[in-house]
Amino acid sequence: FPMKLNNPELLRTQSYIDGKWVDAPDGAEFAVDNPATGSNIAHVSNLGAKQAEQAIAAASRAFPAWRARTAKERSNILRKWFDLIIAHTDDLARIMTLEQGKPFAEAKGEIAYGASFVEWFAEQAKRVMGDTISAPLATNRMLVLREPIGVCAAITPWNFPNAMITRKVAPAIAAGCTIVLKPAEQTPLSALALAVLAEQAGIPPGVLNIITADSDNSIAIGKVLCASPVVRKVTFTGSTPVGRILMQQSASSIKKMSLELGGHAPFIVFEDADLDAAIDGAMISKYRNAGQTCVCTNRFYVHANVYDSFVEKLAARVSGTLSVGEGFEDKVTTGPLIDDAAIAKVQEHVTDAIAKGAKVVTGGAAHSRGGRFYQPTVLANINEDMLCMREETFGPVAPVVKFTDEAEVIRLANNTDYGLASYFYSRDIGRIFRVAEALEYGMVGVNTGLISNEMAPFGGVKQSGLGREGSVYGMDDFMEMKYVCLGGI
Ligand code: ADP
Repeated sequence: FPMKLNNPELLRTQSYIDGKWVDAPDGAEFAVDNPATGSNIAHVSNLGAKQAEQAIAAASRAFPAWRARTAKERSNILRKWFDLIIAHTDDLARIMTLEQGKPFAEAKGEIAYGASFVEWFAEQAKRVMGDTISAPLATNRMLVLREPIGVCAAITPWNFPNAMITRKVAPAIAAGCTIVLKPAEQTPLSALALAVLAEQAGIPPGVLNIITADSDNSIAIGKVLCASPVVRKVTFTGSTPVGRILMQQSASSIKKMSLELGGHAPFIVFEDADLDAAIDGAMISKYRNAGQTCVCTNRFYVHANVYDSFVEKLAARVSGTLSVGEGFEDKVTTGPLIDDAAIAKVQEHVTDAIAKGAKVVTGGAAHSRGGRFYQPTVLANINEDMLCMREETFGPVAPVVKFTDEAEVIRLANNTDYGLASYFYSRDIGRIFRVAEALEYGMVGVNTGLISNEMAPFGGVKQSGLGREGSVYGMDDFMEMKYVCLGGI
């Protein structure tokens, strides 16, 4: 492993099933590479459909005892896991930067963010409430119990190798469920390091199982997880096409599903906005994680009165403050993109925009370092025919469109199958309510570019997904209501 860790124990390359670290039966492994250099950092066990069955069986065996624990016991164990994650922040962030590429400071930020879900759901575990309902008959009493749904399966992406796991696993096990996790093939080491700490925290064997696999085996494992009648719920974060496949595969067993899928976030700057605040919000919502988050702004709409000034300020901030490089280098703000396909997509979007009349204000090409580095880019003279205005770019590119009319910009913002995050800047109180209510999105940031935290319900509408993660609602997706009717009283 190319880096010294304070606690080398965190580095695991085997999968974790039923409390044991396991290899693939045939010893198969897949390579994990550093996206900044393309060089290999580890080989990880490449499990398949058979081991997915074993993991489901282990989770099923562990379920009765785990659900029977008191909420307070589950809470205490989660709290220990949280403390251990925080205590190992630097090592977890080192592993993350190596396999994912994000700057080390940003990786540490993600560890704190990821841990916040464990802390939050440790607290929420004790706040599961049922109801009593007034009955239509005097002789009856009606109760609603809230019970864990059972064995869950989670499939997670590479862009937040830690937080997308904790945001699913923590509410599941807080609710009394057991879970089988298949992390992204690009970032399995972050997932396995979390399992080491989960084990130390006292999460019993079978409650959390992690099966690692390359992209081909991930497809086979996905089929097993979706088709299994033992698995009662699938929770997925990733692309909309894969979400659609998982939903289809889960139809045979009528599974409960949570899907956090793609976005195409609009960022609207009205003529009355505080422009400097809008630039701050634009920087964080667009260039964080090199533009590789599902809530990253994908397209800017700026009112004609402030358009030139916004474009100029944004380009100056981008060229003056963003520094592209490897995540461990000093002052780097923008790491590499995850893989060659990601670079190719960003190139395609920029080339297409330029061919259709876009003006490059800054950036606009691969970075001189080569590899998977791309220059943070601002494009002006954008129109709705460009690819970047229809598809999620997932890179550090900001196309800026000029608009004049509020109703028209709302129509354009909503003119997409996606509905995850949206942002707008205005100081007019009437407009703030009007626009926030009109945007067909699960989340709206008003005068802020940063909206995610453990207390907020994260999720989308339309083809951006189903369900909400985090917040007081985040355990609902892992629980069922049971109605109990008492007669003859
Ligand atoms: P991204 O574009 O973020 O890589 P994907 O949706 O392709 O998004 O991948 C997210 C997760 O889904 C990863 O863990 C990946 O291995 C998994 N995955 C991709 N395709 C499938 C599939 N057909 N069945 C099950 N899991 C899949």
